[in-house]
Amino acid sequence: MSPKEKTKETPKPGATAPEGKAPAPAAGGGPKPSMSSGGSGRGGAGAKVGCQADTCKSPDTRASFCEEHFRQYKFGLITKNGKQVSDYERKLEHYQNWLKSQVELKRA
Ligand SMILES: [Zn+2]
Repeated sequence: MSPKEKTKETPKPGATAPEGKAPAPAAGGGPKPSMSSGGSGRGGAGAKVGCQADTCKSPDTRASFCEEHFRQYKFGLITKNGKQVSDYERKLEHYQNWLKSQVELKRA
C-alpha cells in the first residue's frame, strides 16, 4: 500500500509583499507662482494697452506686464488682470525681501 499523494495547491514560500511606502508629502514652503501660459487672448473690450497692473503706465514686455509687474504676478501679488490680491501687503513684504536677496546676489 502506497500512501496517496495529496494534490493540493500549496502557497509558494518566500512570497515577499512589497513594502508599502507612502510618498512623502512635499514640504510646501514659499509662494508658488501660478504659471499660466497663454496671454495671447488680447483684444477684449476695453482692454488696457501696456502693463496690465493698475496705475502702471509702462509698456508690457512680458505676458501683458512690464518686467516689474510680471515679477509681482509670478509671485502671486497681483492677478493676471493686474489686480492686487487680498493679502497683497503681506506678500509684498516677502516679495521685497526676495528682491533684496536677488540684488545682493548680483552684487556678490
Ligand atoms: Zn507695470
